Amino acid sequence: MSEDSEILAKRARREMHCFLRCSDDDGALVSPNSVESWRTLRRAAELRHHEDILGIQVNSPDEIPEVYYHRKCRSIFTMKRDLEKSFLMKKRSVRKIRR
Ligand SMILES: [Zn+2]
Repeated sequence: MSEDSEILAKRARREMHCFLRCSDDDGALVSPNSVESWRTLRRAAELRHHEDILGIQVNSPDEIPEVYYHRKCRSIFTMKRDLEKSFLMKKRSVRKIRR
């Protein structure tokens, strides 16, 4: 563990959260490193009807918004094979968290 990742973890607790919540990973959060990476995420969100991701506004198609997630969550989130199954589970858990 470097000092940097500790700082990142502290900031994560205060002002960032994992948008995907697909795993119980509590490691450092990452954000899309390219527009293509963001688009892949967005496509998965459309299939999953993930309101948090779909609600993110961008000014232009080339803009990468500030969205944070765990690497592990992202790989689960964008895994097509599991999309249908976890979509049903996700719907339930999002509701539980919000209300
Ligand atoms: Zn996560």
